[in-house]
Amino acid sequence: MASGPLFVFDLDNTLYPPHVHLWKVVDTRIERYVQERLDVDPLTAGRVRKDFLREYGTTLQGLMHHHGVSPDEYLEFVHDVPISEIVPPRPELSGMLSSLPGRSVVFTNGSESYARRVLSALGVSDLMDGIYGIEFMEYVAKPSPYPYGKLLRANGVNAEDSLFCEDLRENLFPARELGMFTVWVGGGEEGFPAHAVIEDVCDLPRILPRFLDNGNGIAWKD
Ligand SMILES: [Mg+2]
Repeated sequence: MASGPLFVFDLDNTLYPPHVHLWKVVDTRIERYVQERLDVDPLTAGRVRKDFLREYGTTLQGLMHHHGVSPDEYLEFVHDVPISEIVPPRPELSGMLSSLPGRSVVFTNGSESYARRVLSALGVSDLMDGIYGIEFMEYVAKPSPYPYGKLLRANGVNAEDSLFCEDLRENLFPARELGMFTVWVGGGEEGFPAHAVIEDVCDLPRILPRFLDNGNGIAWKD
């Protein structure tokens, strides 16, 4: 295949580092949405969210199941944050993405329009070949295995020819089980579920030979 391997990137706390705090701002909006929608105090809202996250993977899924919340309304509310004021451009990320020998896509539990705005603030919009958000996932979020398979099928690529960068350990498991090369950004130990650990996504080229020389991505090699 001429299209090369597929590089899959989570968005929040992966394409920008955690000290940028955007995710924290979104998280506060989610908390506020739950409080207002269910008319509960912060403590109860926190407990409800914890239960939803455990049972469904996202707060949104729980709200849809138990409270008939419209995903569009929810996503618009929680992503209504001044992204360009919070997220600075990352020229080093542009440089890294430009150097990759394959296609790059974003795979996020956030909405597609939110991802688009974050990529634009980072200055890397033109370097992404696709954005796969929560709408593409049909609201069945990571770490449910469903969207991972759907993502690979949509890109016509084998799991073995794809690499996945993500900051949340639990989101690496389905990728690893499918056969993707897993990179834990800002993570702890290599082994399982992470083939490799890097401090920042911009360090990806350092571990790339382990993916490319290991028979992974072999389908694109001549
Ligand atoms: Mg993340």
